[in-house]
Amino acid sequence: MTEAVDPAEEVVRVRVPAKINLALRVGPVEDGYHRLATVFQAVSLYDDVTARWQRDGETTVITRGREAHLVGNDHTNLAWRAADLLRQRCGGDWGVALTIDKSIPVAGGMAGGSADAAGTLLACAVLWDLDLDPGELRELGAELGADVPFGLAGGTAIGTGRGDVLAPALTRGTSHWVLAMAGRGLSTPEVFRRFDERQPEPPEPEVSPELMAALSSRRPADLAAVLHNDLTDAACDLRPELAELLDLAPRVGALRAVLSGSGPTVAFLVADEAAAVDVHLRLKAELGSEVECRRVHGPVPGARLLQTP
Ligand code: ATP
Repeated sequence: MTEAVDPAEEVVRVRVPAKINLALRVGPVEDGYHRLATVFQAVSLYDDVTARWQRDGETTVITRGREAHLVGNDHTNLAWRAADLLRQRCGGDWGVALTIDKSIPVAGGMAGGSADAAGTLLACAVLWDLDLDPGELRELGAELGADVPFGLAGGTAIGTGRGDVLAPALTRGTSHWVLAMAGRGLSTPEVFRRFDERQPEPPEPEVSPELMAALSSRRPADLAAVLHNDLTDAACDLRPELAELLDLAPRVGALRAVLSGSGPTVAFLVADEAAAVDVHLRLKAELGSEVECRRVHGPVPGARLLQTP
């Protein structure tokens, strides 16, 4: 005879990665959103989302970590909205108590909010025992934010449309990065507004054949040559010290540096794991304690289950 499980004891834990953009091309606005052509890579910096069954049909969120105070624990939290959307679409009255252990910087250009939404969708689908396939979860995710489908998929992918239409990209080997994460975030809408002022009529965005070739080459120097972000100048206008940070790459021994998303996180591509250790130390010495530096690698998988009931 098996012992009945108290639903309140049911816990699902999901780990979900941050992303960086190896390339980000920003095109004209359509239906209020810029058309994008981007290459995402999921890297080994994670938020963990824990979902506990709750009797009363309510959603509650607790966020933990150094930057937890920057995120609301109510309906403004993307994780809360993800749980709510899933419950509405699947027509149940299930409750969930969410705990988010945040390591991904808030408003850092690494899609931390979208990662939490992706993690919550997967955690709640398992907790509530819903019959949804990965494609259906990704479609729901796209309603919450353009980066959410990638949080579920992970790996390296080309994003078009608003960044939510994904195609897997062929990559070989592992890339090593050192991230420089400024203590203060940058607002994505503000960076796009500045981009529009600088470039009111951008060309149609596309991922270049050179970038595709570099992704499937094993040589980090090939990838370094094609890293690109159209939002760089706009972000540097708003945060001039970013230009100095990007210029540090040769001095600290990195192959190249690229702004991730709308910034302010800067990703330094290095030759291998040993180089990452050196570059990390040199960056820390240059930047002091204001900017947190982390060694990461990619690609890594998207949202994945660490614990199930
Ligand atoms: P974007 O995905 O727009 O590029 P980003 O990666 O720069 O954003 P996020 O950390 O995803 O930054 O957060 C953007 C904003 O979303 C934050 O300022 C915060 O107010 C809000 N937000 C809502 N839910 C969350 C969450 N779970 N984690 C982080 N931010 C959240």
